[in-house]
Amino acid sequence: MNPEDITTVKSILSQPQKIAIIPHKNPDGDAMGSCLALYGFLKEMGQTAYVVAPNDYPKFLKWMPENDSVINFERENPKAVRLLEEATVIFTLDFNDLSRVGQMETTLKAVTADFIMIDHHQQPSDYAKVTYSDVTMSSTCEMVYNFIQYLGETDAITKDIATNLYTGIMTDTGSFKYRSTSSKTHRVVAELIDRGAENMEIHRQVFDTNSPSRLHLLGVALSNMVILPEYRTAYITLTQEELDAYDYKKGDTEGFVNYGLTLEGIIFALIFIENKEEGIIKISLRSTGDFSVNEFARNHFDGGGHTNAAGGRSELGMEETISRFNDILKTYKSELNP
Ligand code: 5GP
Ligand code: MN
Repeated sequence: MNPEDITTVKSILSQPQKIAIIPHKNPDGDAMGSCLALYGFLKEMGQTAYVVAPNDYPKFLKWMPENDSVINFERENPKAVRLLEEATVIFTLDFNDLSRVGQMETTLKAVTADFIMIDHHQQPSDYAKVTYSDVTMSSTCEMVYNFIQYLGETDAITKDIATNLYTGIMTDTGSFKYRSTSSKTHRVVAELIDRGAENMEIHRQVFDTNSPSRLHLLGVALSNMVILPEYRTAYITLTQEELDAYDYKKGDTEGFVNYGLTLEGIIFALIFIENKEEGIIKISLRSTGDFSVNEFARNHFDGGGHTNAAGGRSELGMEETISRFNDILKTYKSELNP
């Protein structure tokens, strides 16, 4: 964050504000962790704040401190709209464009509040009064820690704030192993443990609370995996019928896409998940090394994200989507075999 922006934020927060904090649609651990941590921090600063999530999120995140205060835009729409309209400041966390909030976009485009963006995705849009964007960061949670540090308020980090920040850093770095994990990330995480984050317990709550049906669904996903060694690619498909057969709940497929990358020689992994209700195939893309799944998702599947982790969608059926994907993949043969 540049000194000018820090001064602007300090000046904004020196007055009582009505603040709304917003994660992207289908929020993940980093989105919820950063929003809930910022919420806790702003309350410590004596501000009035609300977290308004565009829609629901997985059960494995619902143990997080302050979770009960989250307002769901889909489920509590009139209240959510009123809070957004009344807000004087809106923080948008862990996304780079207002289109990432789904239905909430229309409301956000009409409000009068000043926006503050904190985000680490590529190609940030220009809608905020203050844009703190850094694509080299491991997570938005690490940036919220920095944000608090820039304001000179690290002593305000309570155990709950530390727990929420730790959760987001842990989930967005694949438990501290992705390329964006720096020595600074580890220093921040160490500080969060010192401030009360219980690292083992957080890990257990997120990763070791599976239902039997979720593990069985993983079995189906793995047996559906198609491996294309000539393209150093592996992809998984899951149809709505398969999801229904295993009592699918939101978040159950989280992390499945990464199994492709555990294969020796595979550098590009995808999962295609049918969503009959939305009439789309949701696509998650992952890579290792320089192959940019952000570009791939952006150019072909109406999506985006980071170099090594991105998302997208297709409005064709599963078979057509896979056939289109295979056609596109042919044009990447040399890029995937540098
Ligand atoms: P996931 O595959 O876990 O849903 O998302 C991977 C990364 O890509 C996350 O950082 C997420 O925010 C981003 N992402 C997921 N879906 C989309 C999308 O439809 N559009 C854009 N621009 N980014 C996405
Ligand atoms: Mn993130």
